[in-house]
Amino acid sequence: MSIQLHLEEIRKQLPDHVTLIAVSKTKPVSAIQEAYNCGQRDFGENKVQEMNDKQHQLPADVRWHLIGHLQSNKVKYIAPYVHLIHSVDSLSLLQEINKQALKNNRVIDCLLQFHIAQEDTKFGLNLHEAEILVETSNSMKNVRFRGVMGMATFTDNQTQVKSEFQHLKSIFEQLKLNYFPDESTFDTISMGMSDDYELAIAKGSTMIRVGSKIFGNR
Ligand SMILES: *Cc1c(COP(=O)(O)O)cnc(C)c1O
Repeated sequence: MSIQLHLEEIRKQLPDHVTLIAVSKTKPVSAIQEAYNCGQRDFGENKVQEMNDKQHQLPADVRWHLIGHLQSNKVKYIAPYVHLIHSVDSLSLLQEINKQALKNNRVIDCLLQFHIAQEDTKFGLNLHEAEILVETSNSMKNVRFRGVMGMATFTDNQTQVKSEFQHLKSIFEQLKLNYFPDESTFDTISMGMSDDYELAIAKGSTMIRVGSKIFGNR
């Protein structure tokens, strides 16, 4: 099946409030261009160098999402154009994003990444750490929190995946209530990938990150 058919298939199932990020990591520019030609504008990459290379070769209205672990010393390369950073997991990273955003005279949208899976290989905060981070970041004027991101455990156990998504949704709601009650822009729950996006949408996702189901296996 073509990229176009895969995209149409997924879009058919998407409620209006859910944004589809096409995760194009490891895939060539030609594949991204093909998805772009079908109207797709949001793309996700997990490596700074790769995202930069592709960004230079593709139309300027592509919205680039950094979905992988981000090292502070690489923020400067993406700060001029990145649309949303999904993987904020430390104060030092946030400080660097704020600094580079200021240099570029812009505000960079960020998601707080949470550790919701049972695997301990995945990056992310817990609620307590996130609360400290949010409280400490009060004076940072060039970053804006838009919501949360998380990855469920890689397992066939649907009950477990469901409860992890539910957990992320409840974290979102607590943060919203305690820190962003009047901010309509704190509105994003980034959860769900090729194998679990339907479950994620059922559990309140507003942004799904789908790679292999669009572009084929990596
Ligand atoms: C690779 C990746 C995805 C997409 O994974 P698929 O299973 O190919 O849909 C989503 N989120 C993150 C953080 C990723 O690294």
